[in-house]
Amino acid sequence: MYQVVIGMELHAQLLTQSKMFCSCSADTWEASPNSHVCPVCLALPGALPVINARAVEQTVRAGLALNCQIAPFSVFARKNYHYPDLPKGYQISQYELPLCHDGWLLIEGDDGQPKRIGIRRAHLEEDTGKSIHGASGTLIDLNRAGVPLLEIVTEADMASGDEAYRYLVKLRAILRTLGVNSGDMEKGAMRCEVNLSLRTAEQAAAGQYGVKVEVKNLNSFKAVRDSIAYEIQRQTAVLDGGGQVRQVTMGWDEDRRCTVVQRSKESSEDYRYFPEPDLPPLELSRAWVEQVRATLPELPDARAARFVGDLGLTPRDAGLLATERAVADWFEEAALAYGGPPREVANWVTGQLFALLKAEEGVIASLPIRPADLAALIKLVDAGTINRNTGKKVLEQMAATGQPPAAIVEAQGLAQVSDEAGLAQVVDALLAAHPDEVAKYRAGKTSLLGWFMGQVMKETRGQGNPDLVRQLVAQRLDG
Ligand SMILES: [Zn+2]
Repeated sequence: MYQVVIGMELHAQLLTQSKMFCSCSADTWEASPNSHVCPVCLALPGALPVINARAVEQTVRAGLALNCQIAPFSVFARKNYHYPDLPKGYQISQYELPLCHDGWLLIEGDDGQPKRIGIRRAHLEEDTGKSIHGASGTLIDLNRAGVPLLEIVTEADMASGDEAYRYLVKLRAILRTLGVNSGDMEKGAMRCEVNLSLRTAEQAAAGQYGVKVEVKNLNSFKAVRDSIAYEIQRQTAVLDGGGQVRQVTMGWDEDRRCTVVQRSKESSEDYRYFPEPDLPPLELSRAWVEQVRATLPELPDARAARFVGDLGLTPRDAGLLATERAVADWFEEAALAYGGPPREVANWVTGQLFALLKAEEGVIASLPIRPADLAALIKLVDAGTINRNTGKKVLEQMAATGQPPAAIVEAQGLAQVSDEAGLAQVVDALLAAHPDEVAKYRAGKTSLLGWFMGQVMKETRGQGNPDLVRQLVAQRLDG
């Protein structure tokens, strides 16, 4: 058995209007190739970069939300990079003096307890363009070159693929809540890198680490979890066989479901970092940082705590509802419209509504159900107009049609049958038709009560008021 040691790097595109060092639009998704370029991001001679103030502010907001120290003095650095998708021949990044450092984020550890994942640094850099390899050769699209990227590097604090997954879910929720990143992994707005090593208990006791392998360009959280599982297995087999793990950079092959070696690992010397001479150092005053801090919205952990403390939700429901801002906003609006115990609304959202979302593979905004309509539905159940089971069916139809619940109940005649005389007739007819079962019940087989109730519910198409049905059946059988 080996101890698993995992650190993560995340590259997140910042939601700014313009690129990091020029005024080209940063919204390049599906734009025609090389339509968002200028002398700066094309690296034409004599062009000089200018720092995007909004990108600095967004990075500081993310740093504060991740409990980081914000450096009063930080510098940009050149990282030498010899691929055609960045025509300068270097990437402007930060190296020795990053903007944010020494923070942490809280996740649920594998033991169920809260666990702090250290944030070593969060810094600003620029994205590269794209090389598009085709049959006739390689084409270059530089639209993405120079888009601001926030790089967040953790300490090696995670011990499993599940912990890494929970870290990413929490981090994405924070960045989305801040409006710093879209979280849209299909569009490449977030890219992950895992570094993973195994060590024996003796190595751990001596403070030593095993050889670290990097897995780059992971485009989904699932790929992160799967590649970690694969690497743990692979490295365990190497070590068990008496071999040594090689220090390499790998990629994840989604089709073959395995990691593949891309190249031997560069060290920071290979990048030959040096301070960027075309840009001044960033000096941030304490007062300005505090002004930025005042713009932070309520973050997921704080919101979950409020859901427990003020709204009386269970910690589990609060966690489920507070993580994604859109879900949390939707829930709060529904709870406000309902006016009764918020816990009741939480049950419907985490139960029925989440089940519908999963079936649709969608996000909450994709459902045509308005928060006020869910509140109205719960009120119909509370008032006894429909029973809970019918309520679930009505919710499905609300999701399919976007109609309010009262209209669905009315149009389909779903209102619960609470008419005592009518129900009594159904019960009497049923008992008359099943004399054997009645006799068995009266001879002591009282479990048949449930069967009789089921028959009445069937007869009323599930719309009989269950309390009243139970009462009538019992009255007649026992009387
Ligand atoms: Zn440009």
